Formats: sequence, C-alpha cells, structure tokens
Amino acid sequence: MLSARGEDSMARGLVWFRTDLRLDDNPALSSALSQCEEVLAIYVFSEAQWALHNESNIKQEFLINNLTLLEKSLAKLSIPLMAINTESYKTLPKDLCSLAVQQKIDHAFWNNEFGHNESKRDQITIDALEKINIQTSQFNDQVIYPPGFLKTGQGNPFSVFTPFKRRWIENFEMDFLDIDKPKNAKEPNLINSDLSKLNFTKTHVAKIDLWPAGEIAALERLANFLSSKVKSYSESRNSPILDGTSRISPYLALGILSPKRCILEGLKLNNFEFTSGNKGICKWIDEIVWREFYRNIMHSFPRVSKNKPFKLDTESIQWRHSDKELEAFYTGNTGFPIVDAGIRQMLAEGWMHNRLRMVVAMFFTKNMLHDWRLGEKFFMQNLIDGDFSSNNGGWQWSSSTGTDSAPYFRIFNPITQSQNFDPSGEFIKKFIPELKDIPIAQIHQPKDDLFLSADYPTPIIDLKESRIRAIQAFKDAREVSGV
Ligand code: FAD
Repeated sequence: MLSARGEDSMARGLVWFRTDLRLDDNPALSSALSQCEEVLAIYVFSEAQWALHNESNIKQEFLINNLTLLEKSLAKLSIPLMAINTESYKTLPKDLCSLAVQQKIDHAFWNNEFGHNESKRDQITIDALEKINIQTSQFNDQVIYPPGFLKTGQGNPFSVFTPFKRRWIENFEMDFLDIDKPKNAKEPNLINSDLSKLNFTKTHVAKIDLWPAGEIAALERLANFLSSKVKSYSESRNSPILDGTSRISPYLALGILSPKRCILEGLKLNNFEFTSGNKGICKWIDEIVWREFYRNIMHSFPRVSKNKPFKLDTESIQWRHSDKELEAFYTGNTGFPIVDAGIRQMLAEGWMHNRLRMVVAMFFTKNMLHDWRLGEKFFMQNLIDGDFSSNNGGWQWSSSTGTDSAPYFRIFNPITQSQNFDPSGEFIKKFIPELKDIPIAQIHQPKDDLFLSADYPTPIIDLKESRIRAIQAFKDAREVSGV
C-alpha cells in the first residue's frame, strides 16, 4: 500500500476514540487492525467543550477511569493510547492533524457521533486530514440504523416512536448484529501510551464506586441483568426501590458497552423475537430503540440541539422564574417526598430511576412551570449517564414541548405517582432519612405537622392551583401561535 509518506510502506492507522471506549463491537478499531500494520489510539479531551455541554464531574471521573482501563486492554493488542487536550471543537481538527503528521499516520478511523456540532467538527476534520493525504474512515457503532436512514411512507423523518419502532423491526436483518472481535496489531508498536494529560481535579459528592469502570464490568452488569432481572422487567421497571432496571446507561453513554451487544444478548434469550416471547425482554429492547429514536430526532431536527423546543408552538410559553423555588428543587427540598427522593438519588448516585426522571421533570415544568431547559441542564450537570439526545428527549417529553410527548393537559400528580410506584415509602425513606419515622399512610402526602417535626420543608407549590396554571399557560401559548 502506498502510504501518505509516499513510500510503499506498511500503513500506520490511528483510531480516534470518542464515545466508544471499548474493544467489543468497535468497528473503527477492528477495521484499523485489519487494514493497518501498526495502530495507535488517541483520545482528545476539551475541558471547555465538556463545560459547554454541561457534562457532569462524575461523568468526567468515570471517563478517566475508563480510559485508564482501555489503555491496558489496548496494550494487549500492541496499541498505545495517547491523550491530548484541545481548546474546543474548533481547535480540534488542527491539533489532531498535527498529531497525525507527527506520528506519521496514513489512515484515521473513528465511529460517528451524531450531535449537530459533532458532525460539523468531524466534517472539518475529514477535510483537514484528507488535505494532508491522510485517509479517513467512519463507522456507526451507536445505532443499528444511521440517524435519518429510516423514513416514513412519505419520505419524512419519523417523529413518533411507535411507527419508528415498527419500521425499525421491519427493516431489521440478523446480519446487523454481526460483531467483530479485534485482532492483535500486526506489528508491535514501540510508542508508549500516555494519559498523563488527563488529570481529574474536580469534585463531586456522588458515589463513583457504584459505577465500576471498564468494559468487563459493563459486560458483567449486562449479563447479571439478563440472567436475573430482565424477565420481570416489564413489572419491576417502574418501581425505584426494586432496582429492576439494568443501570447500564452510564456505560452506553460513554460507549463502554455497545447497544448492538445489548440487543444481541437480549434477543438470544428471546429466541430472536422482538415482539413475542418474554414481555420483559421485548420491553427492554424497546427502551434501547427509544435511545436510537431520540438520536434520530437530534439528527433530523437540528433545532433541538439549539435550545429550541421540537414543537415550535410551545416557544411562546411564559415560563415562571423563582430563584427560591429553583434552589429548593436543585437541593431536593420541594416538600414533595417522591420528587425530592428522586433528586437526592441523582445527587448521591449520579443516576436517577427513569420513573422518577419523568415525575421530577414533569413537576418542574408543569407544577413549578419552570423552563425545561434549566431542568435539562441540571440533569446533565449531575448525571453520570448524561446523554444529550436522551436527556433532551426526556425533558421535552415531560414538558410537552417535544416529539411524541405527553399531552400538555396530562400532568402527573406526584402524590399519586408516589403511592403507585413507591407504595411502601421505602424509596422515599432511603433518600430522605428525615422522614424515616413518618407512618406509611402519610409518607406521600406532604401536609401536616408530622412533616414539620421531621425537619422536612413544607411544599413549595399548591398542586391543584399549579396544575390549572400550567394548563392555562399552554393554552395561552397555543393561542399566541395560532394552533
Ligand atoms: P433500562 O431501563 O435498563 O434501559 C436500558 C437502556 O435503554 C438504558 O440504559 C438507556 O440507554 C435506554 N433507555 C431506557 N429508557 C430510555 C428512554 N426513556 N429514552 C432513551 N433511552 C432510554 N437516559 C440517558 O441515558 N441519559 C440521560 O441523560 C437521560 N436523561 C433523561 C431525562 C429525563 C427527563 C427522562 C424522562 C429520561 C432520561 N433518560 C436518560 C432515559 C432513561 O431515564 C434512562 O436511560 C434510564 O433510566 C437508564 O437506566 P437503565 O440503564 O437502568 O435503563
């Protein structure tokens, strides 16, 4: 092969790791190993970009822990992993090109990221690398179908989940789940790994120990969930105290685990059926498809990446703003135990149960009538699994500004939600120890002296009035926009 260096020499490949920090099902890595004699790996970090995207401190620590283990796994394949810092996405192409030239790279490989800014950054990087005769190859590891690939009968992007999922299944072929295992690099690489530039200096109170790093830990977590919990998932998934979900979201968010691997292992247990067989497995695979659905929304409707609602008629909603209420919300002191327990779970674990994410987000955007963008940011700043498209999709679903979202007049009552999904109050008591002596019959309803004596705040909102206020705000906005 004629290399960029103009000699008929062995090709040198560079794998640019991004949100795919694993060896399993990593098409960019496998391809580099099969095409190149020598392979190097790089991770490019930008502190400023991380902050701009509101990524949390716990996620940053998790990232570094995972890169440290990835370095060890790559070393077994004779691939050194280096890390460099760059100012922002703007400076990244230049910095990556300099490294590629310095390391005499012929061919750069990476797996696609689908965010608006990420796609722009990648195109500029492709152009810059190709200008200096470095070949580039991109792959899709985050999704089964590239975003925008599946279209409605009229050729439009899907904006409703159920028909999207139907088409997703109709087009599905088993070959999509072929997973390559990377082989060793052909030539031992003499460069040393170097992650010294990745110093983690930030603090957070959430417990990182709950989230062991590395793809072995991720695959073990997946295997444990599939062997012990998935079959009862459709019944247990809504109960925060049962912890009946997989808790793999942090691993999917950084690509330590591949969604294809999840679907394949789930399907193996269900005779390769998507819609029949075990209900729990079908429901769980549905959730992975939701993740892909929201990536499609992000790709096909770039406005959602620009701080805009999916439903444009909701742009004129008059959101309230109260610093006092925001402070109560951010610290888990709204006086609604199930809402506060959810928020406190996130502050303590870096993760919140899905049912509570919906309850909390609906409370924030409807009862408090605060702008969903503030809630979206608060979640990103605290979640270890912060993922732009799923978080934006979840917030816009809850605030009825999004695609396929809850109708604006369907407002969860946090007390009923609490009675239904934490009937014993055990979850509330776990995260709000002040309430440990409140009798079960009263734990959901924040109103009488018992709560005051427990040193727990009185409710910041009147549920009934706030419900009426929210519905009116949505009606007014519809009138303004003429819907
Ligand atoms: P499981 O129930 O075991 O599901 C398996 C996987 O399917 C998850 O890991 C996740 O990747 C995917 N998934 C499950 N539910 C959803 C969903 N509703 N939308 C998209 N994908 C889903 N998920 C994130 O990964 N990152 C976020 O930042 C995020 N923010 C959210 C904000 C709000 C307001 C809401 C309502 C939901 C949000 N979700 C987010 C989706 C969901 O709550 C989490 O994915 C889920 O709780 C993760 O737990 P798990 O891994 O145990 O999920």
